[in-house]
Amino acid sequence: MRRDAKVFLVGAGPGDPDLMTLKAVHALGAADVVLVDELVSRACLAHVRPGARIIEVGKRGGCRSTPQAFIERLLVHYARQGKNVVRLKGGDPFVFGRGGEELEALRARGIRAEVIPGITAGTAVPAALGIPVTHRGLARGVTFLTGHTTDGSDPDWAALVRSGTTLVIYMGLKSFARIAAALQGAGMNPATPACLVENGTLASQKQCVATLGTLSATGFGGPALIVIGEVVRFAHDQVDEIDARAA
Ligand code: SAH
Repeated sequence: MRRDAKVFLVGAGPGDPDLMTLKAVHALGAADVVLVDELVSRACLAHVRPGARIIEVGKRGGCRSTPQAFIERLLVHYARQGKNVVRLKGGDPFVFGRGGEELEALRARGIRAEVIPGITAGTAVPAALGIPVTHRGLARGVTFLTGHTTDGSDPDWAALVRSGTTLVIYMGLKSFARIAAALQGAGMNPATPACLVENGTLASQKQCVATLGTLSATGFGGPALIVIGEVVRFAHDQVDEIDARAA
C-alpha cells in the first residue's frame, strides 16, 4: 500500500459549487477515485483531475440508494489498493451525512481518514435569503433537526418550542404538515415566521416565506430546508408577506 494513501471525507457545500472549500478542491485534485453523492453539484467535479475515477453513489429519496455498506466496502477496497480516495458529500459530511458511519468503518479497518468539513445547508441556505440563524435578542441558538427518522420517533416538541432557538429542519418536506401541527400543538405561535427553501444557493433556488400556520410544502419536491423562528423576518423582501399572513 502506498504510504500516503488515505480516504478523505469531504463536504462539497450546500449547492453553489463556489461554496466548496479550497481544501476540498485540493483533495479532489489529488484523488485517484471520487465517490460522489447525487446531491452534490456536478460542477464540483470540475476539480477532479483527468483520468481519476468518478463513481456516483447514492440516489436521493432513499429507495434506490446505494446501500451504505456497499459504499463503505468501496472506500475500503480502493484505499487498500493504495489509492487516494475522496468521498464527496453534500454540505458537511458530519451533518446528516452518515460521515460518522464511514469514518467508523474506515477506522475499524485501520484505514487512515481525514475529514474536510463543508458548509452545511442548515446555515448557508438561510444565509442565501439573508436569514441569520442566530441573532442577538431574537434567537439565542439554533437547532438542526431531521424530519425523516427511520424509526418514526419524534423529538420532544415542547422542549424545542421552549428552547427559543431557530429550528432548521433537514429532510422535512414530506413530513412538514405533521411537524407544523406538532409544533403548534406544543405551544408554538402559528404566527411564527417560517420558510421553506428548495435548492438553496443554486440558480434553481425556490422559496416560500410565510408563517408556521400558513407555510405549505405543496409544489416543492427537491432537496429543501425549513427554517422556523423570528429570524426568518430577515428573509429578503418578505417581511410584508409574513405580517400580512400573520394578521
Ligand atoms: N450533509 C448535508 C445534509 C444531507 S441531508 C449538509 O450538511 O447540508 C440532505 C438534506 O439536506 C436535504 O433533504 C435538504 O433538507 C438539505 N439540503 C441539502 N442541500 C440543500 C439545498 N441546496 N437547499 C435546501 N436544502 C438542502
